[in-house]
Amino acid sequence: MSLYGNKIMAVSINEICENTKLAREMALTGNYDTSGVYYQSVVQQIHRLLASIADATRKAKWQLVQQQILQEMEKVKATSNTLQLFKVDTNTERLLGTSNLSFEEPTRDPASWPFSNIDSNWSQAPARDPDVWPPLTPAEQKNSRIQRNQQKQIPRTNTRKSLLSQAKKTDGKQIGKKDDKKGIRKDDISKDKTENEKVDLDLEERKFEPSGNDRDLVELLERDIVQKNPNIRWDDIADLHEAKRLLEEAVVLPMWMPDFFKGIRRPWKGVLMVGPPGTGKTMLAKAVATECGTTFFNVSSSTLTSKYRGESEKLVRLLFEMARFYAPSTIFIDEIDSLCSRRGSESEHEASRRVKSELLVQMDGISSNSEDPSKVVMVLAATNFPWDIDEALRRRLEKRIYIPLPNHEGREALLKINLREVKVGSSVNLTEIAKKLEGYSGADITNVCRDASMMLMRRKIAGLKPDQIRQLPKEELDLPVSAADFDEAVAKCNKSVSQEDLEKYEKWMNEFGSS
Ligand code: ADP
Repeated sequence: MSLYGNKIMAVSINEICENTKLAREMALTGNYDTSGVYYQSVVQQIHRLLASIADATRKAKWQLVQQQILQEMEKVKATSNTLQLFKVDTNTERLLGTSNLSFEEPTRDPASWPFSNIDSNWSQAPARDPDVWPPLTPAEQKNSRIQRNQQKQIPRTNTRKSLLSQAKKTDGKQIGKKDDKKGIRKDDISKDKTENEKVDLDLEERKFEPSGNDRDLVELLERDIVQKNPNIRWDDIADLHEAKRLLEEAVVLPMWMPDFFKGIRRPWKGVLMVGPPGTGKTMLAKAVATECGTTFFNVSSSTLTSKYRGESEKLVRLLFEMARFYAPSTIFIDEIDSLCSRRGSESEHEASRRVKSELLVQMDGISSNSEDPSKVVMVLAATNFPWDIDEALRRRLEKRIYIPLPNHEGREALLKINLREVKVGSSVNLTEIAKKLEGYSGADITNVCRDASMMLMRRKIAGLKPDQIRQLPKEELDLPVSAADFDEAVAKCNKSVSQEDLEKYEKWMNEFGSS
């Protein structure tokens, strides 16, 4: 008898198709918030489906589909973002007598809108710029009305929140139910659908239910710490090939070849990423979770010791219980040094001592529980201050890898990644700039690129009033970044890691490293 109150639930390819179709239709008709909910639901469904697929080829195919859906979702998000730029001042509208032009504002519930960070100040409908948004054709208007009506009819409670919780609780089952089958796009998903629709896997919707009175803490964990789709891929990370290889070996291979990773070859219980700040440690952890399709628990040590003071040990215990339940899982503990300052040192807080003891106990639990490597729970920790970590924890973080400052090639690759969406002038020589950025961390280089790409805009708006700024044509601002812009940005942004720090890392790695 299961402790967790499991429910029988189907991950249906058909529903994935239906929800994808709806997400696209909603996006096409301008209902971005609803579209976001559907996209999220699709991603979650695929995530769950992936957990049930053993065949590597089929899994890879679905991972590709998931990636494409995430990219689409990003595009919708970007479009919604762009529309924000065309926000019209209602007073101006009233003065111009054009207020009747604004269209119905969608209801937005920040809890359910996945792009809520860009929407927190959304107070009115974005104006439709005819260049960006040509007027809807009568057919489109009709379609949009139908969509809206259907949207109202889907769940009984018609709020975005209920839509999302519905999507979460029922894996989008309700949301996807529609009769209209016209216009389904014959894409990759549909192909796989024909292959699989007979199967319509009946899987268990596994929802973690705590045994005691810890429901609140579990909800906190679900809300703040479980990150469903970190959405960082290996390709988003420049350089760091050796770190990527080691992480793949530590996390991915044990899941793919469970029979091999047994006994002496058992997976590592913990991997510690050591290195200067801003070198991509967090990105690597996120990429591990995305690329491996593991459930990602993103915890910062300071969160454990401050936000949940008093309940911290319990939180650590629940965190590992949940990770085992949703395995394969990756628990990423950032700034682990702040939790594990040397035992007995004066700075050691009583609370953090208790949290640390619990963490040690739980990590020991992982290794004794590793008969099935496909159910692996992997602790990935990161620190900028490895010398502060005590011996007991260091021993449990068996693999200790160094994440260095980028080398010349890495810096050039980083420049290219950062400038993917920006026009770059022909005078710009990235190899030369990479040379000038020796000693800069990845985060420093990102800052340089951000700064360089804003230079022109800063010059253009200097001394202008808000109204004049709003009237500036987009083409005037979106000109290529020049070599001079880069020179100015490099001169302004200093490197954040000193030679002295680098020597300290080298010394520590010589003594304790194990890559
Ligand atoms: P850390 O965890 O090591 O302090 P992060 O992973 O949080 O560093 O990286 C901070 C930022 O720096 C990232 O958001 C990204 O913009 C940039 N960055 C750092 N290293 C890389 C890299 N190797 N590839 C791409 N971007 C990077």
